[in-house]
Amino acid sequence: TSVFVSGANGYVAQHVVKQLLAKGYSVVGSVRSVAKGDQLKATINNDKFTYEIVPSLTDKEAFGEALKKHPEVTVFLHTASPVNFSPEDIENDTIKPAIEGTVNALNAIKEHGPQIKRVVITSSGVTMWGFGPYFDESKVYNEDDWNPITYEEGLSNAWFGYFASKKYAELAANDFVAKEKPNFDLSIVHPTFVFGPQAYGIQDKSSLNHSSELINSVVKLGKDDKIPEEGSVFIDVRDVARAHLVAFESDAAIGQRLLLGAEDWTKDLIADIINRQSSKLKRLFTSMTTQELEKFLGLISNPLKILSMISLNNSIMLK
Ligand code: NDP
Repeated sequence: TSVFVSGANGYVAQHVVKQLLAKGYSVVGSVRSVAKGDQLKATINNDKFTYEIVPSLTDKEAFGEALKKHPEVTVFLHTASPVNFSPEDIENDTIKPAIEGTVNALNAIKEHGPQIKRVVITSSGVTMWGFGPYFDESKVYNEDDWNPITYEEGLSNAWFGYFASKKYAELAANDFVAKEKPNFDLSIVHPTFVFGPQAYGIQDKSSLNHSSELINSVVKLGKDDKIPEEGSVFIDVRDVARAHLVAFESDAAIGQRLLLGAEDWTKDLIADIINRQSSKLKRLFTSMTTQELEKFLGLISNPLKILSMISLNNSIMLK
């Protein structure tokens, strides 16, 4: 089976690709440029991975051109969507690419991929609840709920723009299926905050994807900095990837909203975990050779990888 993954270079998508390849699927990933595609292909280093360029989610034809070249694809996973909390233009940089990207992908599948039978869209837990005025602490939220944010309210700040982008993209997908009655079944995955290691390691460690950077921002706090009061629910990125596979492999997932959450997090808790691990780190540093230490420091902007390695093995396994 061949699976199309949009936004294949993204943090979540790379784990999806990795798990697909590990299970023997062929993968066609879309990225925005040749440079990104070549870099991803080199990183993944697997003959069953190829890429296509889809430069813009708002270009009506872009996914169609990619699909025409791949009549072997029977599953389409749409993960690409802006995760940008400082856009210049909320509507054009966040909301429209999310909605139009979803509709353009579904249209392309209908027009150019009649053999595609299963489609999975990466939505978000925020389509079920919102922050600030949109969050009711006394309510137990579930998959029947919708964040009440309106399109216009989504224009008021970058966070609300993201909430609206995910909600209206999902509604547009449901609308498409109801009106067009396409040849495929749709499942939608709703992660809460996604934490965990990068799938393959990354070249540019100066700034990570948004949810990983939340962990990094705690690592970067100074000794006297106040830990920001922030928290929510999280899910491990490897479980998010697994959910994308289950979403198309299992018939029980057809037509479902799959909400993914494991435990609560706060920045205070993250700081506490880092603090607890640092005494283990001190012991490790003193037992390392200079060469091992240099290799270790190269990993340091990937704190989750380090933390998981330490907690799993109680010692660093340098590869
Ligand atoms: P990343 O930023 O790592 O990946 C986003 C992907 O979408 C990248 O491939 C990116 O391409 C592509 N993309 C973004 N904007 C555009 C655009 N305007 N046109 C074309 N491609 C675009 O984010 P994540 O991996 O964290 O997110 C993946 C999906 O998961 C998204 O749909 C997100 O909403 C959802 N999600 C993520 C959560 C999290 O905590 N990480 C929580 C809940 C949902 P490029 O690299 O070229 O910018």
